Amino acid sequence: MKELYNSDQEIHSLIKQEELRQAAKIRLIASENYVSLPVMQATGSVLTNKYSEGYAGKRYYEGQQLIDQIELLAIERVKELFGAEHVNVQPYSGSPANLAVYLAFLNAGDTILGMALPHGGHLTHGSHVSISGKYFDAHHYSLDKETGLLNYDTIRETALACKPKLLIAGHSAYPRIPDFKIFREIADEVGAILLVDMAHFAGLVAGGAHPSPVPYADVVTTTTHKSLRGPRGAMILCKEKHAAAIDKAVFPGIQGGPHDSTTAAIAVAMKEASSDAFKSYAAQVVKNARVLADNLISNGFQLVTGGTDNHLMLVDLTNKGVPGKKAAKALDAAGIVLNYNAVPFDPRKPFDPSGIRIGACAVTSRGFSEKEMVFIGEKINSVINDVENVELQKKIASEVKELCGNFPAPGLEHLA
Ligand SMILES: *Cc1c(COP(=O)(O)O)cnc(C)c1O
Repeated sequence: MKELYNSDQEIHSLIKQEELRQAAKIRLIASENYVSLPVMQATGSVLTNKYSEGYAGKRYYEGQQLIDQIELLAIERVKELFGAEHVNVQPYSGSPANLAVYLAFLNAGDTILGMALPHGGHLTHGSHVSISGKYFDAHHYSLDKETGLLNYDTIRETALACKPKLLIAGHSAYPRIPDFKIFREIADEVGAILLVDMAHFAGLVAGGAHPSPVPYADVVTTTTHKSLRGPRGAMILCKEKHAAAIDKAVFPGIQGGPHDSTTAAIAVAMKEASSDAFKSYAAQVVKNARVLADNLISNGFQLVTGGTDNHLMLVDLTNKGVPGKKAAKALDAAGIVLNYNAVPFDPRKPFDPSGIRIGACAVTSRGFSEKEMVFIGEKINSVINDVENVELQKKIASEVKELCGNFPAPGLEHLA
């Protein structure tokens, strides 16, 4: 990046420092990952210079000879990978993708039903601070108070009571696998459109390590940058009968020109996601999450639902007497980066909740396996059991850096 260095040393230096941070830390934020260099190259290409409002063959600008081919390739690869009837790869990110789905099916004031934010749902599933909660009559289902699991009886009761036009399944912080078949049945019972937001677990679906919602849902939205390991972006997969409504909602409904550089990088990432190596990655993510969960449990940590079946886990730190935010800051100082997170029925405030969320995607992408996950569990235990010990945090940070040096992260191989 010498041209960037010559033109803007401040930004160059900050990016270089971020590279070093990503190389030297154990990154456990469940929504983050490491994309490959080819994905970054497509993202940083001349495609950023292009405008292409519309869809392939129906553009409002000239010069689309190559852009159309790129977008069609991306769409074909997504269709093939997920077995989808129709695909739109233009949403700028996960939140606008969900907004487009609402525009396609709802009028202002219509009823939606999704998972409550403090129970692992997403802001865009009807939180009162989000446009999805302000413009629609948003209702929520909660997790079971005893088990921390989805309770389909209460979801059905809530749906029968509020009669949603759109039922949303999917989550940002739930460590188990939703039953998409039951969600389909509930949607049919109340005459709702079923949206599954697979932003978090799409990579596991692509790699065959998680059941697919695609056969059951009317519409599936997903980000492309989380477990799926593509560029920052999103896409919408739907049944053919909803194709026109979805496309119209994305453009011209809520967006203008698509980000063609992102589209190309999605195509690259989908090719990668179709490989055997990606299948191994997805299986290893689930294995790694389970090993870490088991280690934490053996060290006396309480995991919401008692474990994990996917890439993430939620740890309730109440019994350790350490609030989530304090734990997250101490761990960050020790080179272990994650986020504080509310646990279901959390008595503490969202900005200072009782838990932490841990995801296994990024560390798996850099090659960590069972042994390294045990190392992580032991270090988390040490830091939290002696949370004020700054010297200990420094010592662990240097051990973490040394371990990371043996596992060059994708896209950062030049630092190894
Ligand atoms: C991350 C996420 C989104 C939003 O994605 P952004 O790209 O951050 O807008 C939407 N839904 C779910 C379930 C998510 O986890």
